[in-house]
Amino acid sequence: MKNPPFVYHQAHSLSEAIELLATYGEDGKVLAGGQSLLPTMALRLGPPEHVIDISAVPDLDTIGLDADGGVSLGALVRHAEAERSDDVRRLAPLISEAMPHVGHRAIRTRGTVVGSIAHADPAAEMPAVCLATGATMIAASSQGERTIPAAEFFDGYLTTALRPDELLTHVKFPAWSAQSGGAVVEVSRRHGDYALAGLACRVDLSGDAVTDAALAFFGVDSTPVRVPEAEAALVGKPPTAEAFAEAASIVSTTLTPTADIHGSTNYRRHLAGVLTTRGLKTAASRIGVSA
Ligand SMILES: Cc1cc2nc3c(=O)[nH]c(=O)nc-3n(C[C@H](O)[C@H](O)[C@H](O)COP(=O)(O)OP(=O)(O)OC[C@H]3O[C@@H](n4cnc5c(N)ncnc54)[C@H](O)[C@@H]3O)c2cc1C
Repeated sequence: MKNPPFVYHQAHSLSEAIELLATYGEDGKVLAGGQSLLPTMALRLGPPEHVIDISAVPDLDTIGLDADGGVSLGALVRHAEAERSDDVRRLAPLISEAMPHVGHRAIRTRGTVVGSIAHADPAAEMPAVCLATGATMIAASSQGERTIPAAEFFDGYLTTALRPDELLTHVKFPAWSAQSGGAVVEVSRRHGDYALAGLACRVDLSGDAVTDAALAFFGVDSTPVRVPEAEAALVGKPPTAEAFAEAASIVSTTLTPTADIHGSTNYRRHLAGVLTTRGLKTAASRIGVSA
């Protein structure tokens, strides 16, 4: 289907983009890479009357090194740029690991990492990576700038804490510790498809015990979700196959994924359990632990 009629606005500066968002509010939508917005408009899923293209706004395409050792991705950093970046691989390895799973190369060449986060598809990789790493969203509007922790950002299916007049200018990923191991694992019908179930995970180790763990699932609920009960079961224990199996068992009994034509609730629960063991083993191997 063709897109319904809309008014196109190209913003040439951040202040112009913010002004346009303030003017059109609920009737306006930001256009970044267009890889999700244009298909949803063509499907008539709440098409906006005004499309505000930010692709000509300067300085939003930068991968910034933060003073605390983390990394910030601007709103126009394409998936492919993040995938190729040595700084991202070194400072936020879960992003690099997620990138090859995001659609296909052509989609990653146009689509932006921040656009994927703003779009908040529950089966997308990056929202779960934000939860697993404790990322912070930086939103700008005519009222100023505010920060939103990832844990408070994803509200529901394709719904976030962003107001209609806000632009996500960049997302900050905190410093990645040398004692942290991480992995992004998923099951999809074909490579490049959205995941039937996926996991972005992180384990922090001190001595021979896990000091912190994050298990952030995608494709299993209306938002990306962590499973605190399973994370707590890992903390204080050595990272062994038994500990990982216990966490997997908690995951598959705790999650209640929605069934659809691609998989039943029980099948997705089973996948989430399998991915827990697989993801944790891979994460542990990256800090030299064989479980
Ligand atoms: C065939 C196909 C397969 C795909 N497979 C996957 C996949 O496996 N995994 C995956 O994660 N994604 C997948 N995608 C989506 C892709 O990753 C998109 O690029 C991404 O979701 C959105 O990025 P974008 O820059 O294209 O955003 P756009 O399409 O331009 O925008 C998406 C939404 O976010 C809003 N938005 C964008 N940027 C901002 C901002 N800075 N501030 C506020 N709001 C903003 C827009 O208004 C819109 O509502 C797929 C897409 C296609 C077409």
